[in-house]
Amino acid sequence: MSDEFDLVVIGGGSGGLAAAQRAAEYGARVALVESGPLGGTCVNVGCVPKKIMWNAADLGSALIDAPDYGFNLTTQGHDWKGLKHKRDAYVSLLNGIYAANLAKRNVELVRARASFHDAHTVSAADRTLGAAHIIIATGGRPAMPTIPGVELGLSSDGFFLLPERPRRVAVVGGSYIAVELAAIFAGLGSQVTLVLRGESVLRSFEPMLGEAALKSLRDEGIEVATHAAPSALVKKPDGTLELEVAGGRQLGPFDAVQFAIGRDAVVEGMGLVLAGVALNARGYIGTDKFQATNVPGIYAIGDVTGRVQLTPVAIAAGRRLCDRLFGGQAGRYLDYENIPTVIFGHPPIGTVGLTEHAARERFGSENVRVFRSSFVPLYHAITTAKVRVEMKLVTTGLEERIVGVHIVGAGADEMLQGFAVALRMGATKQDFDDTVAIHPTSAEELVTMR
Ligand code: FAD
Ligand code: NDP
Repeated sequence: MSDEFDLVVIGGGSGGLAAAQRAAEYGARVALVESGPLGGTCVNVGCVPKKIMWNAADLGSALIDAPDYGFNLTTQGHDWKGLKHKRDAYVSLLNGIYAANLAKRNVELVRARASFHDAHTVSAADRTLGAAHIIIATGGRPAMPTIPGVELGLSSDGFFLLPERPRRVAVVGGSYIAVELAAIFAGLGSQVTLVLRGESVLRSFEPMLGEAALKSLRDEGIEVATHAAPSALVKKPDGTLELEVAGGRQLGPFDAVQFAIGRDAVVEGMGLVLAGVALNARGYIGTDKFQATNVPGIYAIGDVTGRVQLTPVAIAAGRRLCDRLFGGQAGRYLDYENIPTVIFGHPPIGTVGLTEHAARERFGSENVRVFRSSFVPLYHAITTAKVRVEMKLVTTGLEERIVGVHIVGAGADEMLQGFAVALRMGATKQDFDDTVAIHPTSAEELVTMR
């Protein structure tokens, strides 16, 4: 006999929690099955603990700038272990808050690994849960390279277990996680080598962002090894690690090697075949614009769909889906265009909309006009370190509608959200020009570019 619900959600990460709670708010009977700590990747081994580490690194650079602002400081280094302890305690607090939030909304939490029995039934420990609607929100896990010795290296999950700061660390990869972790390690005092299989970082973004990020990584003292696809990781007799890369080169010695080369969907051992749910060619669960899989009544949201792998995206997809299923909003779905995102490098990197190249392809080169700005922000006017801000606005048409906003620099993370609203509303360059600037800020450059 199965316990019957209106909705069963598999996975209590960003997407699953949001979907379960939204459905319950509409009065649906909901069960949520989670095999690990509540909050999933973002809360436990992603955004939240990462941002705490980023804050620490950011504070570290403020301490370097402090004498330029008249402070006479002596610091006793950085207590990684102490910070980890506080960070872990905060994450545990969040785990508890999420459980309480589910209870408050009468969502039944089943702590088990779920697998499909058939298209309408899920097994979880000794329970059988039946529902007309089932949402798969099982997220992703770090991909690791298939090289000998890979087990000696760290995944991003492993980063959060590090009890101490490694003195010398290689970070392999060139996108979000690699840029963020390299900046964190360097900011907290590690000697970092960034290992790229190509020669640039953030290749899927506006090139200006990658160029500026690479420069700032180098300015932070990070060594960058290019054309260095890893081929083996070796432990030397003295306990240090050596990374063999393309061309027979050996990099090291390192105390830790951090891999950050993408993420894979968590789809195995779930009985997807029993339910008839198909994977796409990339190994993710394919969905249509309404998050529906190929099986009626089964949906997928978040990282497991392999679309934009960000927490607010998983949340938005889950909420809109439940607005549609249980809230009477038949046409509701998530538009995956113009999603703003920030890479928490040092400085942060924010981007929304089209790259210059994509805009020229879509609208024709002659219909695209670009505005750029590059400056030393006032904060750095009197500091020894001069970390520049780089901005680019991409516009199209005679009305110069803003279709891309790209920013590298201190404050980019907090600046971008409002500009993303403007872009979404169809703002033009004239609207930006007509907006009175806030002075003195870096953001004012975005409304004063010529
Ligand atoms: P997840 O959060 O991964 O949740 C999936 C849940 O499903 C997990 O709790 C898992 O235990 C559970 N599960 C899996 N299989 C089963 C099963 N069979 N039965 C029961 N439960 C199961 N995004 C941002 O927007 N901003 C950031 O700053 C940011 N930083 C990040 C930093 C790092 C290091 C990483 C790795 C990711 C970061 N992300 C960030 C991405 C973000 O964490 C993910 O996009 C988000 O967590 C995806 O949510 P989800 O619900 O799809 O999956
Ligand atoms: P991404 O999928 O974004 O990028 C993978 C990176 O790894 C690329 O730079 C790629 O190089 C490189 N790479 C892939 N395979 C290899 C290999 N075999 N050897 C060496 N390098 C390799 O992965 P991430 O791990 O950085 O992040 C995963 C996702 O998590 C992100 O896409 C993002 O959605 C999410 N995330 C979001 C954050 C945020 O919002 N701030 C922070 C962290 C993660 P190449 O450039 O040459 O292709």
